[in-house]
Amino acid sequence: MLTNDQLAAWDRENFFHPSTHLAQHARGETPSRIITGASGVHIEDRDGRKLLDAFAGLYCVNAGYGRREITDAIAAQAAELAYYHSYVGHGTETSITLAKMVMDRAPDHMSKVYFGLGGSDANETNVKLVWYYNNILGRPAKKKIISRWRGYHGSGLMTGSLTGLELFHKKFDLPLANVLHTTAPDYFRRAELSLSEAEFTAQCAADLEALIAREGADTIAAFIAEPLLGTGGIVPPPAGYWEAIQPILEKHDILLIADEVVTGFGRLGTMFGSEHYGLKPDLITIAKGLTSAYAPLSGSIVSERMWKVLEEGTDEFGPFGHGWTYSAHPIGAAAGVANLALIDRLGLVGNAEKVGAHLLAGLRDALGAHAHVGDVRGEGMLAAVEFVKDRETRAFFDPSEKVGARIAAELAGLGVIARAMPQGDILGFAPPLCLSAVEADEVVDKTAQAVLNVLG
Ligand code: PMP
Repeated sequence: MLTNDQLAAWDRENFFHPSTHLAQHARGETPSRIITGASGVHIEDRDGRKLLDAFAGLYCVNAGYGRREITDAIAAQAAELAYYHSYVGHGTETSITLAKMVMDRAPDHMSKVYFGLGGSDANETNVKLVWYYNNILGRPAKKKIISRWRGYHGSGLMTGSLTGLELFHKKFDLPLANVLHTTAPDYFRRAELSLSEAEFTAQCAADLEALIAREGADTIAAFIAEPLLGTGGIVPPPAGYWEAIQPILEKHDILLIADEVVTGFGRLGTMFGSEHYGLKPDLITIAKGLTSAYAPLSGSIVSERMWKVLEEGTDEFGPFGHGWTYSAHPIGAAAGVANLALIDRLGLVGNAEKVGAHLLAGLRDALGAHAHVGDVRGEGMLAAVEFVKDRETRAFFDPSEKVGARIAAELAGLGVIARAMPQGDILGFAPPLCLSAVEADEVVDKTAQAVLNVLG
């Protein structure tokens, strides 16, 4: 049997890790944790340590780990038909069934689902759909996409550009042309502390209007947004945000892409975040929760009004020239079918709402009054605690102190994984949707202990 040291050496020599400090990892300074197994909300590492994964991998294992219903479906599909493509109208029973299940759950005005592999490629598809749509409509200048600072939409060329986090642009020659960013809807981090929440919402809307006016509405094709900022800090929008933003988009004939890679399939206590916030998107991006990450699969759900134009386009210009070898891969589709059925059978959407509220209330009770806690927030089975140096002035810690990362490391030492979000000292929670109230209490107790250990 390979020793941990042997694996660690092979890892350093051969494995180029995503989103990792390469030099530190090569020097052995980053924690190297080799995961060997998982069940329910727990993962186990090679040292035999069991940890409660309060971030569901990368907020993707919605149904929880070790679900035989899903792994059996994958095995059966692999044995029967591991692969066939879906070009030129081909399909498999499983991929067609999954398309039907997705559309049965999607908002009524949506029409079709295009399958990809991950959230990034689904958003690349969405940008191409938007451009294609406007070209077919004879509006070749209407191409720019507006995203928000601190939004996360992937790390491809276009999607990395749309992502509003500097780390994803710096030294990569991004953002590309045709990408614009507007104000992050984060009330806690508003620039002017004197603004009320309603005034801040109005400012977000006014900033968007001003950007559209400056660029010209006839050059702007779409607005892409997560219903709730995810990787940018797990921040629910300020009250009235979507009610203020959507009419502006409608007025200027700007399409709405709802990036529901995190919020899709129950995370907010509703099947889609669009339902939760009353959004009427033209495109919905799905991934993660679609298969609970048992196999890679994503999708772009297209509205009826866009679909009609896309159809006309192919009548006029020939077949739709966009596809991946692995679009609608049967193994991913099998995972998706079993996963969506399991989410229904176990009532996980309702559990996300109920236990998520319990988790948030627990975090508020335990930490809301702490001298270095500036904000405790959440929605459904998503929560975050943001740390500050001074609550009164909302002064932040110096990033070099790595307060968020230190608390996350301390918490992992106590047996719970939460995520130090990449922007600020923010501890994020996004457990599997099957979390129980008892497990939520453990997350709260150990988080409070970790905060006490690090900050006093
Ligand atoms: N959109 C959102 C909202 C995401 O959170 C992510 C991934 N965290 C992506 C897109 C990109 O998905 P992937 O990493 O599967 O490419």
